[in-house]
Amino acid sequence: MNRISHWIDGNVVASTSGNTAPVYDPATGEQSGTVDLASVAEVDMAVATAKAAFPEWRSTSLSRRAEILFRLRELVDANRKEIARLLTAEHGKVLSDSLGEVARGLENIEFACGIPQLIKGEYSEQASSGVDVYSIRQPLGVVAGITPFNFPAMVPMWMFANALACGNTFVLKPSEKDPSVNMFVAELLAKAGMPAGVFNVVQGDKVAVDRLLEHDDIAAVSFVGSTPIAQYIYETGTKHGKRVQALGGAKNHMLVLNDADLDMAADAAVSAAYGSAGERCMAVSVVLAADEIADDLVSKVAERIPSIKVGAGYDDGNEMGPLITGEHRDKVKGYIDGAADSGATVVVDGREGLPAEGYFVNPTLLDRVEPGMACYDDEIFGPVLSVKRVSGYQDGLDTINASPYANGTAIFTRDGGAARQFQFDVQVGMVGINVPVPVPVSYYSFGGWKASLFGDTHMYGPEGINFYTQGKVITSRWPDPATSSVNLGFPETR
Ligand code: NAD
Repeated sequence: MNRISHWIDGNVVASTSGNTAPVYDPATGEQSGTVDLASVAEVDMAVATAKAAFPEWRSTSLSRRAEILFRLRELVDANRKEIARLLTAEHGKVLSDSLGEVARGLENIEFACGIPQLIKGEYSEQASSGVDVYSIRQPLGVVAGITPFNFPAMVPMWMFANALACGNTFVLKPSEKDPSVNMFVAELLAKAGMPAGVFNVVQGDKVAVDRLLEHDDIAAVSFVGSTPIAQYIYETGTKHGKRVQALGGAKNHMLVLNDADLDMAADAAVSAAYGSAGERCMAVSVVLAADEIADDLVSKVAERIPSIKVGAGYDDGNEMGPLITGEHRDKVKGYIDGAADSGATVVVDGREGLPAEGYFVNPTLLDRVEPGMACYDDEIFGPVLSVKRVSGYQDGLDTINASPYANGTAIFTRDGGAARQFQFDVQVGMVGINVPVPVPVSYYSFGGWKASLFGDTHMYGPEGINFYTQGKVITSRWPDPATSSVNLGFPETR
């Protein structure tokens, strides 16, 4: 059976903790591997390695860092299929979706290739007589990334590409549910010329996470995962003096107004709700349908569902794979049970027609869902789309703004004025206008508001560069010795 270990100081390092976790093929439910779970001593070893590698890496020229990232870009590009294959085998998502994930991750490496331009400071000549003032941005030191199961390749790339480009060294703690892909990425980094110790992977669970959060030599933590853990990471990490950005869960609403193109809206809702079996933090999980068009829209969504091909992610032609674990499948089914009991209408029931093996739930459509029902209030993270009927724009907007989550949202309309008003009014971090999954491109930054983000810096893009660097301002004078004199007054600029 495949054993997945750590990557420390440029080598695969087997754990001696004695703790492991099983890794499954979610399409069959069979165990495909075993992942090592780090002890505190193993985390310490990875951090010590990263700390030792920092002085040389931060002194490495910007053009050399960019060169390594350009090479990494080529290697990831050339190995897209292999990364996608590893990802599908343990996550379950279909290969085309895995390839999409790799492509969006790659964008972040491409962004980081521009580091010489991105990290430029500012310079003010003659801020005072003979005095120049300038700012520079410097790396933080050893930074850690803790990542979720649902984007095992892309989310680490959101973090390490910019962190390394800025001159930090990195310790990644990936999800223990699909750990293989980052061992392969670590090899690619080494092949690209990244010095040993600059990028390390520790496999593990809460023991490893807690050690990273309290370790004196970790300067900053980037986290992506569920809201309760994001809050815990933020509170614990900041208590230990670290800079923390912790992205949490989501419940994304798509508001469909009366004037929307209903076929386009139905296509978008189906794609965004059932893509990756709903295991995306930017999935649409609630459609807010204006009363006048709600019946039509529900029919249009329902009639599209039977043609979605559900099956193993690695079999060509399938469009939706299984969920990550048997436990998660049972939880998702529980929400469908609860929806029926609490008065929602189960229009398409994904509990029916399931294969005998694997962690599948079929696409499910619930209508007449209301706040207060668990299927509305909670993040289900499965292929379950709820429809709540609203009287119009204001009712829809109020519903979205009342949600504790605020990751993504979308409006579907032909009315430019309504769309612009929505962009102005809505209390959500990422907004789509006739775009259902508005994940920002890598040269903007990604992040929600409210319970979808703890901390004040969004991830990747320009905010990523800020997060992984600290500013320094230098006030400099190279005086003519002939003009030097004693002056006890407070320095003035005029
Ligand atoms: P999770 O919170 O269970 O796990 C995320 C990471 O935290 C993993 O590495 C895990 O090992 C670690 N972890 C889990 N429990 C812990 C604990 N008690 N103490 C310390 N560490 C712990 O999340 P998940 O199930 O892997 O991922 C799905 C969640 O991530 C969903 O809620 C989804 O919305 C969210 N997510 C958010 C974004 C975003 O950008 N906002 C992106 C992707 C996923």
